[in-house]
Amino acid sequence: MKTISVLGSGIGGVVATHELQRKINKSLTYKIFLFEKEEQFTFAPSLPWVMIGKRKYEKVKKKIDVLASDYVQVIKGEVESVDPEKLSVKVNGKEYKSDYIVIALGAETKVEHNLDKYGHNFFSLDGADAFHKQLINFSGGKIVVLVSSLPFKCPAAPYKAAMLIESFIRKRGLRDKTEISLYTPEPLPLPVAGKEVGEAVMEMLKKKRINYFTNHQIESVNEKTISFTNGTKDNYDFLTFTPKHTCPNLFSNSPITSKSGWIEVNRNTLETMYSNVFAIGDITSIPLEMSKPLPKAGVFAHYQAEVVANNIAEKLNGTQNFKTFDGYGECFLELGDGIAGYAKGNFYASPIPAVEIKRPSFWRHLGKVWFEKYWWFKYF
Ligand SMILES: Cc1cc2nc3c(=O)[nH]c(=O)nc-3n(C[C@H](O)[C@H](O)[C@H](O)COP(=O)(O)OP(=O)(O)OC[C@H]3O[C@@H](n4cnc5c(N)ncnc54)[C@H](O)[C@@H]3O)c2cc1C
Repeated sequence: MKTISVLGSGIGGVVATHELQRKINKSLTYKIFLFEKEEQFTFAPSLPWVMIGKRKYEKVKKKIDVLASDYVQVIKGEVESVDPEKLSVKVNGKEYKSDYIVIALGAETKVEHNLDKYGHNFFSLDGADAFHKQLINFSGGKIVVLVSSLPFKCPAAPYKAAMLIESFIRKRGLRDKTEISLYTPEPLPLPVAGKEVGEAVMEMLKKKRINYFTNHQIESVNEKTISFTNGTKDNYDFLTFTPKHTCPNLFSNSPITSKSGWIEVNRNTLETMYSNVFAIGDITSIPLEMSKPLPKAGVFAHYQAEVVANNIAEKLNGTQNFKTFDGYGECFLELGDGIAGYAKGNFYASPIPAVEIKRPSFWRHLGKVWFEKYWWFKYF
């Protein structure tokens, strides 16, 4: 019997598991081990909506048990180590060997500078929900959305959060009593997507009177003030932030990580330097020609999972319809007021990614709402 270990049931792991079952011939005997430490899957793209109460806490998560099937064994527990040479994985002290490994453990996030003492980490469901609970009692003052470090997943997330907050505040009649600022270490929004996209997002922020500060790296924070490494300071009344992202600790001394600290893969096949060991999504770092890495985003984890699952299935089926990941990605940019922009393009284009941004519209917002429904319907 052939076996495939899928590590992590986040966006990449869920899609890979689904696609493997769809593509492997039903006449073959095989088993997928799906390892996950959490009881529930959370659909992170819905978190900015949770912040403003457009989605309820319970509506953006589902139990991972439903992913089990005749072909899938869900194994709950912490992946402790991966031996890529022996194709083995240790979980809760037990060794699992398989013919293929797909590593989809995402980025590890950590709150630094005691930020969670003073604000809410909107990259977690609890943080986004706690932000909302404070927002509904907010009566005016200074709101800060802070990008605490680079890189972070979903380069558009802080911009969506700031614009949705603005819309919420305005509808409550508090706009004139509220200042909203976004601080980031980036030189412009979504820098890998290029100048045109960055400037378009800056224009959106400007129209919404959201103060935008680039090249600001937090140094410290207290109950009133954030200090930045460039010597500037700002006061705040209400704070939300992104956490620090790193490659999961279990890979800190692993030969499959590159100098970047993240897992190194072939950018088209997602295979690591070990055959039959693949890594997809946020845990990888894929250098682009422009000398910045491919952004971390669910859309890439999703498309990479489809490629890897297809290619493993082709090998098992004894057929040759191999696919490659071509660097294409897309993203909705929610502005609030029922409208969204949309950016899409080829991030592997030479010499720089070829990404275009479409004007915000009601239909694009509907596209995002539809995609969320489609996700739950298709995978859970
Ligand atoms: C607020 C927010 C909004 C976003 N919006 C968008 C968007 O609109 N579009 C988009 O494309 N992307 C978006 N993203 C980014 C997207 O969610 C991630 O890029 C995507 O989830 C990455 O997929 P992944 O499979 O690599 O990792 P994840 O989805 O993070 O999955 C990793 C899984 O591995 C598990 N795991 C980790 N370590 C272990 C271990 N040691 N043992 C067992 N299990 C483990 C985790 O619990 C998790 O379930 C958003 C993210 C956030 C935070």
